Amino acid sequence: MKSQPVRGMNDLLPGECEVWAHLEGIVRDVIESYGYREIRLPIIEQTELFRRSIGEVTDIVEKEMYTFVDRNGDSLTLRPEATAGMVRAGISNGLLHNQRQKLWTVGPMFRHEKPQKGRYRQFHQFDVEAMGYAGPDVDAELIIMCARLWKRLGLSRLTLEINSLGTPESRQGYREALVSYFSAVKNRLDEDSIRRLGQNPLRILDSKNPDLQGIIAAAPVMLDFLDAESAEHFAAVREFLDAAGVPYMVSPRLVRGLDYYTRTVFEWQTDALGAQGAVCSGGRYDGLVEKLGGRSTPAIGWAMGVERLVALYEVCGGKVEKRLPDVYVVAAGPGTTAAAFALAESLRDASPPIRPELNLGGGNFAAQLKRADRSGARYALIIGEDEVRTGRAAVKSLRSDEAQFDVPAGALVAELQKRLPGR
Ligand code: ATP
Ligand code: MG
Repeated sequence: MKSQPVRGMNDLLPGECEVWAHLEGIVRDVIESYGYREIRLPIIEQTELFRRSIGEVTDIVEKEMYTFVDRNGDSLTLRPEATAGMVRAGISNGLLHNQRQKLWTVGPMFRHEKPQKGRYRQFHQFDVEAMGYAGPDVDAELIIMCARLWKRLGLSRLTLEINSLGTPESRQGYREALVSYFSAVKNRLDEDSIRRLGQNPLRILDSKNPDLQGIIAAAPVMLDFLDAESAEHFAAVREFLDAAGVPYMVSPRLVRGLDYYTRTVFEWQTDALGAQGAVCSGGRYDGLVEKLGGRSTPAIGWAMGVERLVALYEVCGGKVEKRLPDVYVVAAGPGTTAAAFALAESLRDASPPIRPELNLGGGNFAAQLKRADRSGARYALIIGEDEVRTGRAAVKSLRSDEAQFDVPAGALVAELQKRLPGR
């Protein structure tokens, strides 16, 4: 057996976890400042849920899902995205009966893609969903929320693309126009696109095949087929964004890779991460709740890739300091360990708490001081036999030439608080 993670799935090591936790704290804070509440869902759902919501003829469902049969013979799938589960949970828990819901979650998603920088088989998303909201105001607010987040995180080099996919009815006319356009150039399409031409011609627009980009660029655009209400909705979203000073580009070819979208779709892109430039994408899915068995409920949401967010944060110069211990407790001599424990606990009880690292595994005085130095702590607290007997502790600075001194255990917290400001 090779001791390696599954291809495309990453371990997050301590230094990385600190950055993740820092960013997650800020994202959570921003999302909740708009009234969204956290929800946590299973990572595995019935395969059928994803087939029905994402769509049979999509890259995710055709090629990328981790699907397996469990011991009962049920077909289950590791979630490739969060929206389907969010809607399922809204229905299963009766959250959408005569109420609106603003929900968010974060966690791992799974897609069997070709692993490369910024594209993994287990990756993480923040996911925000507003269910029961029909108007263009929430569309704009969800985008404005992202803009606020970029500002809070000090991120630059992000651009916003928006489009409208209309309603399923207005899309029918567009679908026909696409079929006739692509049929005329069928001999230049690839195998996937030819298959999709009959089943789901919109998906051709989402093709990543470079050879097709010319043909796709000249295809009819959905905006010419919008029904009056969708056009009005889209205009209102743009007006709100204009008023809020959030710049965007209308991108008529942005269709997104999932079938459930209606009306507004958007994508935040960066040029700072190479080929994997989509950082956050989303859109409206007014038909999905009903399709999955709930009462007709308009809804919209977005998903943000955490790996790409972290990468962009680092490209933009973001740093998170490692949290070092304030003091390292040296217990030198027989019978000093228990006293050192008690002292360390009393520091953790202090207000504000002082962060001690207790020497573990013994060692002579010199060895312990060496560890103290390596720990990054500002001070070593030395508990020897003398200190135990007299109820005192010796305090030695590890980062300056301040002279070593000793204090009664009862005065230690106050002495340290004076010397460790700004924690
Ligand atoms: P892409 O065009 O890069 O394949 P996507 O349109 O498939 O992205 P969505 O399904 O909209 O992505 O997911 C939302 C976000 O999740 C993306 O904007 C991206 O930041 C992130 N994401 C999607 N797939 C991956 C992946 N395999 N690895 C890392 N992050 C991903
Ligand atoms: Mg993708």
